[in-house]
Amino acid sequence: MTNFLIFGPPGSGKGTQSVKLASEFNLIHLSTGDMLRDEVAAQTELGKKVEGIMQRGELVPDDVVIQMIAERVDSNPGSEGFIFDGFPRTVDQARALDNTLAVKNTSISKMLMLEVEHKELVNRLVRRAEISGRADDKDVDIIENRIKVYKEKTEPVISYYKKENKYLPVNGMGDIEEIFNRLSKALADCIN
Ligand code: ADP
Repeated sequence: MTNFLIFGPPGSGKGTQSVKLASEFNLIHLSTGDMLRDEVAAQTELGKKVEGIMQRGELVPDDVVIQMIAERVDSNPGSEGFIFDGFPRTVDQARALDNTLAVKNTSISKMLMLEVEHKELVNRLVRRAEISGRADDKDVDIIENRIKVYKEKTEPVISYYKKENKYLPVNGMGDIEEIFNRLSKALADCIN
């Protein structure tokens, strides 16, 4: 198994790129944002609990996402690997992921970090709001809050993987295909 994290601030293109990478490299794409949005859309107990938190651009509690990810990893035995998107977002989530993977005798190979300028992030999210209808993309203040939460709570995860020599920055500026080619090259180098 070869497992990757795709990392970067809101609007860095994690979702778009991980779907393409999963299909190219036969990996299972696990996005906590997508899973949580599905819960909200279905108005499950969990969905109702997290809806407001997501709308404000805050993080949902660690135990919720940790359990969701552990269940998905358990329910996909024999896969060639996973690409984690939007998870881990805190150092506690990173530790929990390591434990979940260790039980399966596997680990994270690399953290692919998409580097994008701040102004470009906000532009992309405002543009996405017009198509996606995502509540947390509509308002510039909420977007700025998500970027702030990212800086405070999520950026420390970078040092966690740097210490393990798993950090791999990739230029996330440019068009979708151009960025995909850079990421694919990085992944291919790790798999071979
Ligand atoms: P973004 O494009 O902002 O990175 P995501 O789709 O990854 O968006 O996540 C949307 C929202 O879902 C986050 O702002 C947060 O409220 C919640 N969320 C997603 N993943 C996590 C996680 N691992 N931990 C806590 N909250 C999460």
